[in-house]
Order: sequence, then C-alpha cells, then structure tokens
Amino acid sequence: MRYIDLRSDTVTQPCEGMRRAMYEAEVGDDVYGEDPSVRRLEELMAAATGKEAALFVTSGTQGNLVALLTHCQRGAEVILEAESHIFYYEVGGMSALGGLIPVRVQGEYGVLPPAAVKAAIRGDNIHYPATGLVCLENTHNRAGGAVATIPQMQAVADVAHEHGLPVHLDGARLFNAAAALGEPVARVASPVDTVSVCLSKGLGAPVGSVLCGPRDFIARARKYRKMLGGGLRQAGILAAAGIYALTHNVERLPEDHANACYLAEGLQEIPGIQLDMRSVQTNIVIFDVSGTGLTAPEVSVRLLAHGVKANATSDRTIRFVTHLNVNREDCSLALQRVKEALGR
Ligand SMILES: *Cc1c(COP(=O)(O)O)cnc(C)c1O
Repeated sequence: MRYIDLRSDTVTQPCEGMRRAMYEAEVGDDVYGEDPSVRRLEELMAAATGKEAALFVTSGTQGNLVALLTHCQRGAEVILEAESHIFYYEVGGMSALGGLIPVRVQGEYGVLPPAAVKAAIRGDNIHYPATGLVCLENTHNRAGGAVATIPQMQAVADVAHEHGLPVHLDGARLFNAAAALGEPVARVASPVDTVSVCLSKGLGAPVGSVLCGPRDFIARARKYRKMLGGGLRQAGILAAAGIYALTHNVERLPEDHANACYLAEGLQEIPGIQLDMRSVQTNIVIFDVSGTGLTAPEVSVRLLAHGVKANATSDRTIRFVTHLNVNREDCSLALQRVKEALGR
C-alpha cells in the first residue's frame, strides 16, 4: 500500500532538480565564512525577510534557541504564546541551555492579545526577574496553522518596543503566512526584530532554517550557533537545497492551503469528527475525533492501517498537514481512507 503521509510538511523528499542543485553546489568552509552557497542563501533570505543579515542554522529549533540566547541574559523571562512551539516542542532548551524562564500568555488562534503581553512585562522591582524578549509565532502550529495579520503582530511589537523589549518571530512557516495574507514576506516580518524561517517545512528542503535580523545581532548569533555545534563546514550542499526551495517552492504554497481546506471540508462531513474551520487558514488541519468514541492515538493507529500517516496532537485531536508531496488526488483518497478507518 502507498501511504499518504500527512504527519508533517517536514516529510517531503527532495526532487531531482533540488538534488542536482545540491550536487553542483559551489562550497567552502562556512565556519571561515567561505561557503559561497551559504552566503548566497543568507543574502536571499535577508532580502526576502527585509532584514539586514541572516544566518543559516541546522533547524528551526536551533534558529529559535540561537535567537533567544543572543537576545537575552540568563535568568530573563521570555513572553510567548501558551502553546507556542518554542515552549511546547523544543525540549525546554530555552531553560535547560539558556537559563531563560518562559512566561506563557494565552492567545486566540495563536495571536497574542497586546494587553495581556503588556500585563506580563515585569516592572522595575528588585525582586523580579527581568523581561528579556517577546516571541511571536506565525503561522501558529498548535493553533492549526492559523495566521496572525500584520496589524495584530504590529500591536504586540509596539507594546514590546515601548518597553524597550525586542521581538522575535518563530516564522517556521512564515512563507505560508505571507501566502495566506497575500503580502510580501518582508511586510509580514516587518513588525519584528528577528525571525527564524524553516526551509525544511513547506518549502521542501531536506535540512535547514535561516535566522534573520540586524547585522550586529547576526554577528553575535553566529557565535552562539558555533557554541551549539551548528558551525557547519561545506554547508553549501545544504544551502543549495534551500536556494532551490526559495526559487521553486514558494509560489505553489497556496496549493497546499487549498488542499488543507479541501481535507477540512471533507472531514467535517464525517460523523464523530469535529473541526473548527476558522483555524484552517494554511496547510494544517487539526480535528477532534472524540465523537467517534476513540482516542486520537487510537484513531491514528487505525489510519495507519488504512494507509494514512497522521499524528495525534492531544488525546482528542489529530493533525493533517499538506505539502508538496501530497496532491488533490491523495487528499481525496485520504478522506476515503479516514471513512474506512472509522467504519463510516
Ligand atoms: C517545526 C517548527 C519549528 C522547529 O523546526 P525544526 O526544524 O523541526 O527544529 C519551530 N517552530 C514551529 C512553529 C515549527 O512548526
């Protein structure tokens, strides 16, 4: 049986053209700053996000951690959304390795309310830890790929900046957000000081993220990347895949969004499944299966037996993610298999 893999947009396989670009990449030792392909990728990404400089990192997790270490002193508090990826899925690196304290603020569809952010910022009191940073996430993973608008981001950034705090954006799926908003990526990133963008999600590269921000920030971040073991040598082999992704896989992102919408509409019709269409804005569909009488992990086992790979994101919810290796036909077949798996 051919599996339809909807676990994540990280499961994409590099196509022939991307592999050829990697094979032919001009390379050098990037720790010496001598890899022309890495430098080109960093320039392209800095331009795309409208920032002065950029740094190629191994993963989104490393990009966020490097950003947090560069922005904050040990012992500082970092304000982030309650279900943010940095808090939820990054192994607690900010605390374990950075000595940083997460301050979780409940968002609505992943969007932080500016007043709640303002209330979470520490005042000037000898007993308090200092607030060091405010983090945003767009699109928001656990909110089902929901998008924050530019004014929503700007409102939070304004609060942070009024208090002298920098703003970091976990933009693992920034290009999806820009596609959904119909805005240039640089405009979506304009409210924030720094942004980390994944090449290995919807953009379809096998490895890598890029951290973008002011020139002096990126110079300091380079040192933290080295500290974390992310100083790669002939990394141009990987950067070439990223350049290929930026030039070939951005314009097709709306296809993934349309496929996710198609999946969501089909899932909604299946008895026992509940779904909030308002959260389906990009390439992620999170749906509640508790009405089937099964737990989400049980449903995921059944789906696998019927040729659909999907992750449970809680006891009640399953996540489907569309990507460039899943077309409309696959989505239609996946819906059929869900019905079979649930005996509908
Ligand atoms: C996937 C993801 C990351 C981390 O990326 P990795 O490359 O898997 O480390 C960070 N933030 C968000 C929102 C993500 O979805």
